[in-house]
Amino acid sequence: MKRNFNDDISTPEKFVVTLELVPGREIAGQKLDKIKKIARDACDDGRITAVSITDNPGGNPALSPDGLGYEMKAQGMDVIVHFTCRDTNRVGMESRALQLAHMGMKNILALTGDYSGKGFGGRGTPVFDFDSVILTSMLSDLNMRLIKTGHSEIFRVGCAVSPFKFTEGETRVQYRKLERKVEAGSSFAITQLGYDIDKYQELLLYADEADVDIPILASLYLLGKGAAKMMNAGRVPGVHVSNTLLTKVLAEFEDGSGKRQAMERIARLGVVLKGIGYRGIHLGGIHDSFDSVAWVLDRMEEIEHNWQEYREEFQENDEHCYYMYKKPAEMGTVRPYKEKIKLKVGDNCHYLFLRTAHDWFFDKNAALAPVYKKISSSLDKSKTSWALKVFLEDPFKKLMLSCQSCGDCGIQHVGFLCPESGCPKHTRNGPCGGSSHGYCEVNEDKLCVWVRAFYRMKRYGETDELTGEFVPPRLWELKGTSSWVNFHLDRDHQADDRAA
Ligand code: SF4
Repeated sequence: MKRNFNDDISTPEKFVVTLELVPGREIAGQKLDKIKKIARDACDDGRITAVSITDNPGGNPALSPDGLGYEMKAQGMDVIVHFTCRDTNRVGMESRALQLAHMGMKNILALTGDYSGKGFGGRGTPVFDFDSVILTSMLSDLNMRLIKTGHSEIFRVGCAVSPFKFTEGETRVQYRKLERKVEAGSSFAITQLGYDIDKYQELLLYADEADVDIPILASLYLLGKGAAKMMNAGRVPGVHVSNTLLTKVLAEFEDGSGKRQAMERIARLGVVLKGIGYRGIHLGGIHDSFDSVAWVLDRMEEIEHNWQEYREEFQENDEHCYYMYKKPAEMGTVRPYKEKIKLKVGDNCHYLFLRTAHDWFFDKNAALAPVYKKISSSLDKSKTSWALKVFLEDPFKKLMLSCQSCGDCGIQHVGFLCPESGCPKHTRNGPCGGSSHGYCEVNEDKLCVWVRAFYRMKRYGETDELTGEFVPPRLWELKGTSSWVNFHLDRDHQADDRAA
């Protein structure tokens, strides 16, 4: 192989360029040939460290990145395989990871994934047995097993992060999730796509402040007319294209200079990102040939000494956007930002009530905890815990939380909201990247459960608890049993010997 992702990303002096390829539903033909040719040309060019191959993008079925990636790797191009949590449960995911290790495919981008799209016969079941943090933890665990059995080549796991969030709640929980991913074993990150340089800079400042010491690559996209419209309309989760940029792109395509301007735009943004400290760029939107990538890389070499000149072009100055830090170009002035998200009065009462109930009944250090344990044990021995569940736990929790009877309650990790009924992707360690202006990627009329949790807790200065320790996956074997009894008998995910 000409370039090796692991080596390049481990060498701080190297500016890493990766290229995203998106296979479709075909197993042969023109489209697939084009993708393979782009990978071959990228390999010959020698400036691309790895191609990354998507995993059922948009939740719709596509050729698996595993086999296609294996083929490309055999031809000399290193590969990053995207690995999402949407389509298989933990058993299927571990099996896939074993297969990838067996094939020598060691670079993984661990993602929660877009919500389910349509396959044969209609919409697929959204599995989301794990979130991306738990998936990363599983891959780290597999790495330990590989090392113990004498393997030297282990997975290099990366993650995604989106700085392009508009509200304080989304921004803060998104960044805190990045920390969790790193704690779980992520050793590089790739941003979502956006064009606001102050947001890109915000991520670097946060990473610095939070000691997130991993290389971060910034996403760049060759923005065509159709993609710009879709992204502006919010139809690509986590991606942001402003109205101003959309207008510009449409005008450029109108006067015939669209593609050239799109290439110039990513070359300019690329050098600015390099200038402010990004370790590399991740190029997307390349569907026809490698020529446009080569052009962009040549152009970057040509203009990089002048990168400061282009910075202003990418300052969106959106007064409705939350910026965590003072505006970098005008240090000393805090950007005006008026929080738009207002919770209902009932939300506060709901939070206070459940938090108090939790402190009284579900804290193992509570004065009466030994008594609850004894009661739970006796109900369990007499096989009557079902009565507690049916007559007390179920009515109460269904009313308060639309409880799904997991038997392994996780509300205490999400501001006393339910990660099962409240989040279509059942995230337990922080939000997915798909929320938009605080609202859920899937249920667009509802606040993202993590955003809601953030504002419930902010009032009491408790948001640090929201994104604290790693939350292990739920235990499916407890489904339909009493979560109250399971908690007191140390059977659920919070048992001391299970917590990471
Ligand atoms: S509730 Fe939040 S984390 Fe869950 S799917 Fe919606 S946007 Fe993603």
